[in-house]
Amino acid sequence: MSIRVTKFGGTSLASAEQFRKVKDIIMSHPDRRYVVASAPGKRFSEDIKVTDLLNSSFRLAASGEDFHPVLQKIHDRFFDILTELEILDFPLDEEIEIIAAHLGTSPNADYLASRGEYLNSKILARFLGYTFVDPAGLILFDDNGNLDSTATRNKLGSRLSEVERAVVAGFYGSYYDGTVKTFSRGGSDITGSLVAMSVKADIYENWTDVSGMLAADPRIVEDPAPIEYISYQELRELSYMGASVLHEDAVFPVRESGIPINIRNTNRPEDPGTMIMAKLKPEMSRNTVTGIAGKKGFSIIQIEKALMNNEIGYVAKLLGILAKYEISFDHVPTGIDTVSVVVDTDTLQPVKREVIHEIFTELEPDTLFVENGISLIAVVGLGMIRTKGVAARTLKAISDADINIRMLDQGSSELNIILGVNDNDYEKAIRSIYHELWS
Ligand code: ADP
Ligand code: ASP
Ligand code: MG
Repeated sequence: MSIRVTKFGGTSLASAEQFRKVKDIIMSHPDRRYVVASAPGKRFSEDIKVTDLLNSSFRLAASGEDFHPVLQKIHDRFFDILTELEILDFPLDEEIEIIAAHLGTSPNADYLASRGEYLNSKILARFLGYTFVDPAGLILFDDNGNLDSTATRNKLGSRLSEVERAVVAGFYGSYYDGTVKTFSRGGSDITGSLVAMSVKADIYENWTDVSGMLAADPRIVEDPAPIEYISYQELRELSYMGASVLHEDAVFPVRESGIPINIRNTNRPEDPGTMIMAKLKPEMSRNTVTGIAGKKGFSIIQIEKALMNNEIGYVAKLLGILAKYEISFDHVPTGIDTVSVVVDTDTLQPVKREVIHEIFTELEPDTLFVENGISLIAVVGLGMIRTKGVAARTLKAISDADINIRMLDQGSSELNIILGVNDNDYEKAIRSIYHELWS
């Protein structure tokens, strides 16, 4: 019998009505044996995700303020779901009491953030008649907070082999001693991938609120083209650069085992969605360019020094200084006498003075500028390797829109072109590139 792992995101499990859709989807195929659930997300645009409410409750408790009104809101979200689903004997008050007691003693941010997934998965398991599986002690992190993939595969795999059908809570696992540790936001996608890897699934279905990966962010481009097939590599580039439909780290566990990911829409289960796989066959006809994504909030550190090209190790020293302050860099375009480093503004800002001082004393540049308010845009597609002119068309689209390019970088893999523009030109740039390359 083949196995499908299904992961349902926050909007897919935000209300009783959504729970019913999820049940229909799971029950419509006997292979859907292992389910991963997120915490309730937004029901409407101004709504607050349960994970955000839990984070607020932690902040209030940690600063000695009253967390009870927020905890009441969390209670009410679950209470509404349970009442509408007519699950009347769920021990919600006791569960909330445990959270309250934790908040009142020595609150732990990760433990609290994880309670949305914990409760929602327990409720979903009950609603489906599946076994609830708590990932603490099964998804394991080492003492440095890094995922222990081998231990996870063994522990999670062996636990799930004992249960025919289960709901695993998304978003968290634990250190070896059992202390809860969450992934970064959106991390239930990683849980789904780990479950798929551990049970050797035939497919990992990631159910969300869009009919797959789209060629551009639907909040910026109206009605962007859907992507039918995409490689793991392209998907990772796009998700890293802001196409937030799937967590960028969700690719690794399934990629190792060659399990395809299918992104599907809970509200339109009839749509085929996007299939993500290792190698695409030629008949999976596709655009030269697969998608565009981007992010705001970068800074460019620009350095000029005459005869820089003769100084061996100049760029390495520069990156060494950034590493010392734990600033990771996104791109390093270089010229003969110039080098620029693109970094995340929020990471740079708190240590900016020290970093600049150290660059001045260690590297003695002729000029050094730091410019904030930069957005990065990635145009991604494996097809660009064999097609000429994509870069030219991208630049034409930008100049036709009267936008200044602040940085340009083409990865040596020819998988992507990265552009830097000012934050206030970001949306306009994405739209112009999309219209140039897709129409
Ligand atoms: P979930 O709660 O199901 O995990 P997410 O909010 O994490 O869902 O991801 C789905 C959202 O990703 C969509 O609603 C959409 O607004 C956004 N998104 C951003 N870029 C893209 C893209 N290129 N294609 C599809 N969705 C995108
Ligand atoms: N609930 C968590 C979040 O909002 C994790 C997830 O939904 O994947 O980020
Ligand atoms: Mg998500």
